[in-house]
Amino acid sequence: MTQEKTRFLAYICPKCRQSVIVEREVFALAAAPAKIKCPCGKSELEVEFMPQRVRLEVPCVACGRSHTVSCPSHAFLREPALAFSCKESGLDCCYVGEEGPVYAATARLEQAVDKLDDPEDREDGEQRPFLDELVMHEVLSEIKDIAARGGISCACGSKAWTFRLGYSSIELICAQCGAEMRIPAATADDIDDICCKTSLLIRGKE
Ligand SMILES: [Zn+2]
Ligand SMILES: [Zn+2]
Ligand SMILES: [Zn+2]
Repeated sequence: MTQEKTRFLAYICPKCRQSVIVEREVFALAAAPAKIKCPCGKSELEVEFMPQRVRLEVPCVACGRSHTVSCPSHAFLREPALAFSCKESGLDCCYVGEEGPVYAATARLEQAVDKLDDPEDREDGEQRPFLDELVMHEVLSEIKDIAARGGISCACGSKAWTFRLGYSSIELICAQCGAEMRIPAATADDIDDICCKTSLLIRGKE
């Protein structure tokens, strides 16, 4: 059984929009609830070990609220990179894992966050339907290409599917069992990722 001695945790501060990435000893995290503060002092990530699970309270840069998420302790301790996402925007809000993957994922999230509307631009309370309309369009047409070649299927065996457009992602939904799969559609990297795929397998919920 191998287990990392430390974990990297990352989020982007909703107040000042800088990335907060810290390394913490697993031992210390398990011993007591931890609060990881942004240097600006206006937001903090909370981590708490429960029996069998780890609970996180994450300030979300995409929607401005905070999200309570959790995962099994063994995943928290061993996965190279865990991503937690904002249900409302479809964007990720927190990463936990090894140094390299966590830094890479955070850099990518920064690109998506750069496209978020400034709060000042949102005076009329209206939000654009998509984070990036061009990316959404490209990713959707790639999905349709894959579908046209019969490349979309579900772990339950079904090949019937439908989709729902989110703010920065597309949900593929199995028409038979209802399992969902999120395809990110926020940045140019997301277009590159889907372009090199020839098939998509909906695996259902974890
Ligand atoms: Zn901050
Ligand atoms: Zn959110
Ligand atoms: Zn299915």
